[in-house]
Amino acid sequence: MHTMDQTRIQHLEIRVSGTVQGVGFRPFIYRLAREHRLLGSVLNNSQGVIIRVQGEESVVAAFTRDIRKQAPPAARVMNLDCQALPLDHYTEFRILPSETLDETFTQVPPDLALCEACRRELLDSRNRRHGYPFINCIHCGPRFTIIHELPYDRPFTTMSGFTMCAACQAEYDDPADRRFHTQPNACHDCGPQLEFLRYAVGGWNTVNDGDPLRSAVEALRSRRIILVQGLGGFHLACDAADDALVSELRRRKHRDEKPFAVMFPDEASLRESCESSPSEWNLISSVRAPIVLLRKHSDSIIAASVAPHNPFVGAMLPYTPLHVLLLREYGQPLIMTSANLSDEPICFEVPDALSRMQGIADAALVHNRPIHIFADDSVVKVVGDVPRIWRRARGYVPQAVHVPDSFRVPTLAFGPQLKNTFCLGKRQFALLSQHCGDMENEAAVDAQHRAMDHFLHLFDAKIELIACDLHPDYSTTRLAEAWSAEHNVPLVRVQHHHAHLAACLAENETSEPAIGLSLDGTGYGTDGTIWGGEILIGDFRTFDRVGYLQTVAMPGGEKAAQESWRMALSWLHESFGDSLYELPLPFITELQTHYDRNALNLLTGSNLRQHVFPLTSSLGRLFDAVAALLFFGTRRQYEGQAAMLLEGMISPVPAAPYPMDVVEHDGLWMLSPLTMFREMADDIRKGMDAAIMARRFHEAVVEGFVRVCERVRDESNLNRVALSGGCFQNEFLHIEMEARLRYRGFEVLTHRQVPAGDGGVSLGQAVIANATNEVN
Ligand code: ZN
Ligand code: ZN
Ligand code: FE
Repeated sequence: MHTMDQTRIQHLEIRVSGTVQGVGFRPFIYRLAREHRLLGSVLNNSQGVIIRVQGEESVVAAFTRDIRKQAPPAARVMNLDCQALPLDHYTEFRILPSETLDETFTQVPPDLALCEACRRELLDSRNRRHGYPFINCIHCGPRFTIIHELPYDRPFTTMSGFTMCAACQAEYDDPADRRFHTQPNACHDCGPQLEFLRYAVGGWNTVNDGDPLRSAVEALRSRRIILVQGLGGFHLACDAADDALVSELRRRKHRDEKPFAVMFPDEASLRESCESSPSEWNLISSVRAPIVLLRKHSDSIIAASVAPHNPFVGAMLPYTPLHVLLLREYGQPLIMTSANLSDEPICFEVPDALSRMQGIADAALVHNRPIHIFADDSVVKVVGDVPRIWRRARGYVPQAVHVPDSFRVPTLAFGPQLKNTFCLGKRQFALLSQHCGDMENEAAVDAQHRAMDHFLHLFDAKIELIACDLHPDYSTTRLAEAWSAEHNVPLVRVQHHHAHLAACLAENETSEPAIGLSLDGTGYGTDGTIWGGEILIGDFRTFDRVGYLQTVAMPGGEKAAQESWRMALSWLHESFGDSLYELPLPFITELQTHYDRNALNLLTGSNLRQHVFPLTSSLGRLFDAVAALLFFGTRRQYEGQAAMLLEGMISPVPAAPYPMDVVEHDGLWMLSPLTMFREMADDIRKGMDAAIMARRFHEAVVEGFVRVCERVRDESNLNRVALSGGCFQNEFLHIEMEARLRYRGFEVLTHRQVPAGDGGVSLGQAVIANATNEVN
């Protein structure tokens, strides 16, 4: 029997938060409600999407379940808040106009790579957008980089200057269309256009031959370096197989041996040059479309000068329609490297790009859809089948990290000094900025300032608490101090390695104390020395340093980071004293042919004993030292290069670890590699294969830290270890450390949402400031 009771009618308000704007969410809800024959409405406001549905209880429940189950691919539903409302009189299901609310918080979607449907239309000669380089739809296209206000509506984007033609407007207005409410919707007739320019003495000249794309391809064919306007900034492009040309680009950019990224025309071309596992392929072809580090085939056509001495290549696929057209027409892989000078931030505005790239680019392919804020290509490496983010920017930003403890007040963390990102904390969410670069550089400071303005404005945050690094002289510290004074907002100073630990806890949604292995190149310690091989116990509130890598001098200070031989010298001096110069090692011979004995004595003699040089417990510097000793010699490196090459030569055959002594020192555990250096010197003398020595060294580091973790567990009863710091970009270290800790019964937390390196540090600063400030 069918009674009224069984068909109870319900009116429900569902608030959806997460990445739900600009990803086709409202049309999806519209279709879903119609399928379920529910009445009501849906609208965007700056808190997310608000749905009201009325119908039979069971149908409403099924509808609610399907929201999560069937959400569009680019959407990320974080919360569904349901609240019953009194019954209403609806006659249909409607999409209502966007609402703006003050003091609210929402999430802007990241920029999305061209979708399959748009790609087909782009290449279909019968389609009205055939060959149109700015085709997009609700599932793809620019977002974060073109929005200047919320809610996300066309007048608040850099598309505001373009008026849709009748055909585009009709798509925009039709809830059943893929371009319904697609803010950057455009076509040949009404949207942005390309422009091609050539540089000649005196300046840039527009080429008016009617086909900028073809002109660009011709320039590439005649071995020119061209500036190309992308999604979050400009690239410099040239043939990736042309060794001489790539070297020329390196010379013009004043770029050391740091690898260039390569864009491949398609899957076939990519597979011809690199290996890619299913997870690597999924990542590189995803809507995020990052640069993925892939192993190069030995017979790859990619020029050696693209990534000197490096078994990997930073690969990506065309992610904008312009890239698709350019790469199809050119047919060969192109270098696509950020348009900048050495370590400066990426160019993202046309006049600035043209003026800064004079003398570097021969020609330029630009357009008139402005980029409001920069976002570099993200860099990701798959380790242990999980994507690990090295540089977090386009495609990821500003996707929020959900944190375990809500921010009590809007919080802003200024981030680390190098590989800077900053972090805005509000309620349950931490929003990390795009990569802003090394803050030693004035242009990077400007870039951070600009990105910060954009974030604070977009997310409407009235900051009441700020955080920065503990280092007294960092530019980030001074910026934070100035901000604190100007806005009368409390400032919390956070130790770098504590921030690494907290970042790892936060993104794993726990605030419980854990053992932290914070292993990296550099960070200012509470004792004024430079830390980097730290074993901590801590949570968001506090930390204790319970262990560390033995501290040594950095001869010549900062220079020791670029010249890894200095660290080798320091460790040899620590192990052998002044007799180090009598060691029959190729390294010592090389050293003495490059530097005279007096200069070397300045580094190892009385200066060392009188503590002129800074002291460090950095694991990154230990890797540098071993690399210099084994093969790198007196060469200069870019940050981490020697260590990366050392990792690249590890023998695949297991070998016994070198001894790594664990000793108690002033109540702390100290890892001492002195015996290791003595054995290593012996092995070198005996002519042992460097690959085996590299393996034995890596094994020793893993074994040493795992052993300290076991001792710390015995004392503290903590069984959880958080792995953080730039050293975990080392795949061997990451995989082996995680596996061996698990094997010995530890629970292991690692980074997935933010970089293990310094790009993730601002998240840790923010959660620590939040927890510390609570105490006051
Ligand atoms: Zn699309
Ligand atoms: Zn149009
Ligand atoms: Fe670090």
